[in-house]
Amino acid sequence: MISAIEKYHDLEAVILEYMPGVNIERIRTAFEFAREAHGTQLRKDGNEYITHPLAAAEIVAEIGMDEDSLCAALLHDCIEDTDVTHEDIEKLFGNDVATIVEGVTKLTRVTYTSVEEEQMENLRKMLFAMAQDIRVILIKLADRLHNMRTLQFISEEKQRNISLETMEMYAPIAHRLGMQRIKWELEDISIRYLDPVACEDIIEELKQRHIEDETFLNGIQARLCERLSEHGISCQVSGRVKHLYSVYRKMFSENKLLSEVLDLHAIRVIVNDIADCYNVLGHIHELYRPIPGCFKDYIGTPKPNMYQSLHTNVIGSEGVPFEVQIRTWEMHQTAEYGIAAHWKYKEGKGGKVADEEKFAWVRRLLESQQDSDAQEFMHALKVDMFADEVFVFTPQGDVINLPFGSTPIDFAYSIHSEVGNRMTGAMVNGRMVPYSHALSNGDIVKILTSNSSKGPSRDWLELIKSPEARNKIRQWFKKEKREENIIHGKLSFEAELRHANITLAEAMHDDVLPKILSRASFGALEEMYAAIGYGGISAQKIVNKLRDELRTASKYKKDEPEQAAEAIENTRIKPTRGIMVEGLDNCLIKFARCCTPIPGDAVVGFITRGYGVSVHRQDCHNYIKSLMEPEEGGRWIRVSWSDTEGTLYATTIDVQVLDRTGIVVDVASVLNSLNVKITSFNARTSNTGVTAITIVVEVNNRDELVSAMAKLMAVSGVTDVKRTDG
Ligand code: MN
Repeated sequence: MISAIEKYHDLEAVILEYMPGVNIERIRTAFEFAREAHGTQLRKDGNEYITHPLAAAEIVAEIGMDEDSLCAALLHDCIEDTDVTHEDIEKLFGNDVATIVEGVTKLTRVTYTSVEEEQMENLRKMLFAMAQDIRVILIKLADRLHNMRTLQFISEEKQRNISLETMEMYAPIAHRLGMQRIKWELEDISIRYLDPVACEDIIEELKQRHIEDETFLNGIQARLCERLSEHGISCQVSGRVKHLYSVYRKMFSENKLLSEVLDLHAIRVIVNDIADCYNVLGHIHELYRPIPGCFKDYIGTPKPNMYQSLHTNVIGSEGVPFEVQIRTWEMHQTAEYGIAAHWKYKEGKGGKVADEEKFAWVRRLLESQQDSDAQEFMHALKVDMFADEVFVFTPQGDVINLPFGSTPIDFAYSIHSEVGNRMTGAMVNGRMVPYSHALSNGDIVKILTSNSSKGPSRDWLELIKSPEARNKIRQWFKKEKREENIIHGKLSFEAELRHANITLAEAMHDDVLPKILSRASFGALEEMYAAIGYGGISAQKIVNKLRDELRTASKYKKDEPEQAAEAIENTRIKPTRGIMVEGLDNCLIKFARCCTPIPGDAVVGFITRGYGVSVHRQDCHNYIKSLMEPEEGGRWIRVSWSDTEGTLYATTIDVQVLDRTGIVVDVASVLNSLNVKITSFNARTSNTGVTAITIVVEVNNRDELVSAMAKLMAVSGVTDVKRTDG
């Protein structure tokens, strides 16, 4: 067996070859440090533990990554498995290496227990959210690859779990990052543990065909090489049988026999430039018959993960189909190593690629992933766009996705409302935390509960971020704490009344309170108090309504007799007031005050008891509401406008404006300039900085009103203009 030290020397040689300017002492220190730290720990295969980080570093070197990545790969299990701390690593190897190791450690703690697609996508997202630095993911992939290569030494159950996790999470990540070589190896090893019987069959059959396949591929290879060199195209031609998992997938998803898998054989041609790619394609189509519809130009249209090549399927001389991939060396690098190919150590740039360059590439990669699934993922990958989400774990390893800034309370309610309601404390990563503690990505959150818990506290509403928790807490207060809610509600209602200068007696008046209660569909006063108490409605809102109601009531008492008299008088002079009532002549007409209809509005009449017909707009709330009531429904009759010329009609509009000096004057003067007669103008300022103006105007018809409203809307500071509609 080769010792770890010997292996390390081989690694040094590889590194020095692709990165001659490297500070090799630093890497050696990392190796020695990790070896010391892991001490006598052994791997399941009986080797010294250091062989594992060493193997991970070999993979990282094979990808061609930078010095920090190599150090971090060697140190990647130190924080998790030894006494070494972040600070220790930072002191010796700097902040970057320490942060990467910390990142890998966090990902190592991610365990995968669920097979639900939704959870998986969350997990993948979380990996990226937690990683922050893409090098963390690349090292994690190297770590996983070596663990997969040595999977035979652990229990069968673990083998299956880890293989499933690899298949569902790490292989897709490698794929998305364009790292085909790692992806294939991860898939091939995983599938052998996940479906050993089927894989044995495939492997056995491939073995039997091996010589035949070799001969076939060699024949094509020789013929192609000859042809291309005749035409002066320098190239490398290689042939292979497709990798295990892609054969497996084809056979099982398309239900085919191995011999029926069309592109089992693949020939790859690597050339120097793009022009040659298309030249080679021409030669191949001359030598072999192309299968129609199989040509794909991924050079013109790269795959979402930046993969580029020309693909064609042709039929060989023996009638056996095969696939040809044609690409340049640069495309080959990208195909094998994906994102890492662009991460590689680059000579003459101080060994480091500038950050913008790295991220420009990641951005391009992401922006080119157009399908919806990939878009979802792109959102996930853009680390800085994660500002709005946080991913944490249950002690069972399920991922919970919460709004950024969420606290253990949000977490508890996202598990179940009962967990939230019985919460008595919270632990994050094994430590007790206050309820206000903001959760971070990757935290493991445990909620302590007790059946004797008093339930949520009102302060919690200030601490939470998720609407779900808010609703559940309110729900609880609504149900569980009726008595308390009533007291709380009564107190805040009375405080709000004092604030608005309304006495309790005024508020409780028979003309006012029942209206308020029925409008908000509260059966009794207590119900209203309870609703205020649990936060279902604000006391301020109710008091505002109340104030409006009081105002109308007092106005009604003053105005009604005069108005009624006037109405009657008007009716006598102009009996129809521009309204024709179906089947009735000369009847008393009144215009409803709730919706103040004017000519041009679609209208309807209501036969009142003793006051003639009251005319409403057809979109009036009162009309619509009363249609549901059978006793009243029959009292509506058809009416229409007639002969309205030269008569002015009063109607009410509501204007919302932002508080600013002079705005009320501006509103009034717009109406003046239009010669619209104002009969009443009433502005109320609330403490929210918005002023509500109710204006009664007199116009000839709807067109006049509509254009006046449009002019009002154009006044700076006016946020809404609408007609009062009941
Ligand atoms: Mn490891």
